[in-house]
Amino acid sequence: MPKHIASGLKYLAAVKLKDAGESHQAIAEELGVDRSTISHYLNGRNLSWNSIDVARTIVDLSPRDFLKMTEAIFDEPEQSRKIVNICRERNFEVSIGDSCIGCGLCVNACTMKAIELESLKAHADSIQCCGCQLCSDECPTNSIKILEI
Ligand code: SF4
Ligand code: SF4
Repeated sequence: MPKHIASGLKYLAAVKLKDAGESHQAIAEELGVDRSTISHYLNGRNLSWNSIDVARTIVDLSPRDFLKMTEAIFDEPEQSRKIVNICRERNFEVSIGDSCIGCGLCVNACTMKAIELESLKAHADSIQCCGCQLCSDECPTNSIKILEI
């Protein structure tokens, strides 16, 4: 079952990339599948509509549940990060306050790799943020705010 759901999520990602003007070849490279598979996906072949419905349901979950489910479905962290980034419909801004003590707990918590430590302070790249709030849950100084934009 997870393999079929993974295909459903890749289908949704392929459609979004196509709508953004990407070529079949570029989509295939981005999603790590061959070009003919992408063509089949985009022509609605070799994929059950049930898989696509389940994938849509996963994308519509809370940001944290969407991330966790996608990580559980894909073995490869880089692949799940890509799927979450391409398929998510919501954007977020990460704000890190001066109270940050540079402990690095948020860096470890963020599986989207949106936070780095520089000069003993956390710095976030909001473009990579999926809004899961795992970082703010870990922060001992309550320095992180996640806002939907
Ligand atoms: S909410 Fe925090 S942990 Fe989640 S992706 Fe954004 S920066 Fe990373
Ligand atoms: S968890 Fe909080 S205090 Fe620690 S580095 Fe991240 S923002 Fe700073």
